[in-house]
Amino acid sequence: LGRFSFWGEYITGSTFPRVKESPMKFRVQLVVCTAEGQAETSYEVAELEKDYQQIEQLGLTLAEAKHLLKQLQQHLVEQQAAAFVLRRSQCPACGLPFQIKERTTRTVHTLFGTLTLPSPRFFHCRCQTSQATTFRPLPALLTASTTPELLFIETKWASLLSYGLTTRVLKDFLPVDETLNATTVQNHTLAVAQRCEEELGEELVVSADKCPKDGSLSSRLEEPIAVGLDGGYVRDWEQKQCHFEVIVGKSVPANQPAKCFGFVQTYDAKPTRRLGALLQSQGVQDTQPLTFLSDGGETVRNLPGQLHPQATHLIDWFHLTMRVTVLGQYLKGLIRLNREVGEVIQKTLESVKWLLWHGKVDKALARLRDLDQRINHFADSYLRFPQLKNAVQ
Ligand SMILES: [Zn+2]
Repeated sequence: LGRFSFWGEYITGSTFPRVKESPMKFRVQLVVCTAEGQAETSYEVAELEKDYQQIEQLGLTLAEAKHLLKQLQQHLVEQQAAAFVLRRSQCPACGLPFQIKERTTRTVHTLFGTLTLPSPRFFHCRCQTSQATTFRPLPALLTASTTPELLFIETKWASLLSYGLTTRVLKDFLPVDETLNATTVQNHTLAVAQRCEEELGEELVVSADKCPKDGSLSSRLEEPIAVGLDGGYVRDWEQKQCHFEVIVGKSVPANQPAKCFGFVQTYDAKPTRRLGALLQSQGVQDTQPLTFLSDGGETVRNLPGQLHPQATHLIDWFHLTMRVTVLGQYLKGLIRLNREVGEVIQKTLESVKWLLWHGKVDKALARLRDLDQRINHFADSYLRFPQLKNAVQ
């Protein structure tokens, strides 16, 4: 029990010494050290008083953690900024300290709070001829009012959630500025997006003759990369009756983590460059063959050729069987009209599906042509014949 005596007091007089339980007190300090590791100056970061009777009293609360982080950040950055200014507070030519014109402050938004830092304005030294009479050193360090890490987290979350939810999430977990709002996050995100866009460079013109032909040594050596594509229609925010198609995809190299991408074909001027940058970031070689998997939709179908000259395009099995199922529905109508002929056609369709699953494409196509002929039997009797014909072809 002796080791509890730091914060408890023995109450004597009874048979056994009893400890009066009072909250524990903690002090968190930041110690600035010299280059040799000697403690130089210490700063009080926070004081904590913690009880220890119940599980919810254990450790830091979120509020305490946020407060602690914010205080720590303020002290740390203050030290760094002061060191930066100190190195620039004397004339590099004659060594005289600059005269202070005024003491101003500068605000910077960080992941761990909005900080206010001293930013003195100095007179230039008389030994130098300078156009401006005064200057402030700190802006050379604070080149933006928001630190890159805060921008990164804001943008990352804003790409997953709404701007409003992003601010709520950030405020929940981090001591970011209480005034952070959806508009700020939106402005930051769009600015980052604009910067990424500028880094992307000009759109590529894909031409098949610039790349090695299929079956060349390099493309045979490298494993094909699977890229899944799908399109979905989204309502236009401004013109509610208009829709536009968003294409989303996922590139899945054999031994690399998958990455997603998305764009709007009618809006995006650089879809090829965008996919190229994504594949490059996954370490994919230009010559590596690509296999696109999609639902086979009209717009998505034209993409692979545009995006990559050596692309192979496959309809994924889910969408392929969906088409077979649709055909099967029509055939039920044929069976009602003529059981015998209808069932033969149905058997043909079943064998088409079997052949496709086993990769026997030529045979499957031959069987489909056969099916295409056989359905002509119902050209006059089946009401939905044009639709059936269309679906088969
Ligand atoms: Zn000087």
